Amino acid sequence: MTGTRQGAGMTSLRTRERLVARLWEQGIRDELTLAALSAVPRHLFVDEALATRAYEDSALPIGHGQTISQPYIVARMTAAVRSTGALTKVLEIGTGSGYQAAVLAQLAGQVCTMERLASLARVARRRFQTLRLFNINCRHGDGREGWPDEAPFDAIMITAAARAVPESLFLQLKDGGRLIVPVGAGDGQELLLYRRQGAHVNFERLETVHFVPLLPGETE
Ligand code: SAH
Repeated sequence: MTGTRQGAGMTSLRTRERLVARLWEQGIRDELTLAALSAVPRHLFVDEALATRAYEDSALPIGHGQTISQPYIVARMTAAVRSTGALTKVLEIGTGSGYQAAVLAQLAGQVCTMERLASLARVARRRFQTLRLFNINCRHGDGREGWPDEAPFDAIMITAAARAVPESLFLQLKDGGRLIVPVGAGDGQELLLYRRQGAHVNFERLETVHFVPLLPGETE
């Protein structure tokens, strides 16, 4: 990395490698997922004032009451959708800072990501440009409807907590595709991993999580 925000050593590849070593100790063993996290400079996805904390394993505020997810959760969700094999095209709902999309962009041919807040979508798009992540397509809109024009997807990742998974999203999954989503409200959320098999969908519970809510509609 070059540029004015490099300073302080916290932005170095070595710092990211320490983060990845901690994730490995926490049980994330998927090598490609770990390589993707070490390739993406997380400090460029938060405000400059928070950059020194970018490689702590914690969620951080990104404005508008939203947060960039904790690296452990980003890694956990990425590894879960990746484990079925090649990711040609994935959909993320809840672009936020753009960090999770940037991680997916290391592993997938194409990443479609949707954000209901126009201002966050704008900032994320600029980051994708700066980092030359040309395989990410970011759209301002309500992700609960999915992105029918780009479907079907190998995987759909929802990074905001849903009360219930919108049915139409399952129809945008390829056969064998996976959908990962935090379901529930407040402190009672569980990360669920769904798998479409023909006309059937089954799921497993992964762990307790804490996400901001999936909200209806799109806004500035
Ligand atoms: N994946 C993000 C973090 C997500 S925070 C990252 O890596 O930084 C959750 C995001 O989901 C917020 O930005 C919020 O505005 C967005 N969101 C909530 N409801 C949504 C909806 N219906 N459609 C699209 N985005 C939504």
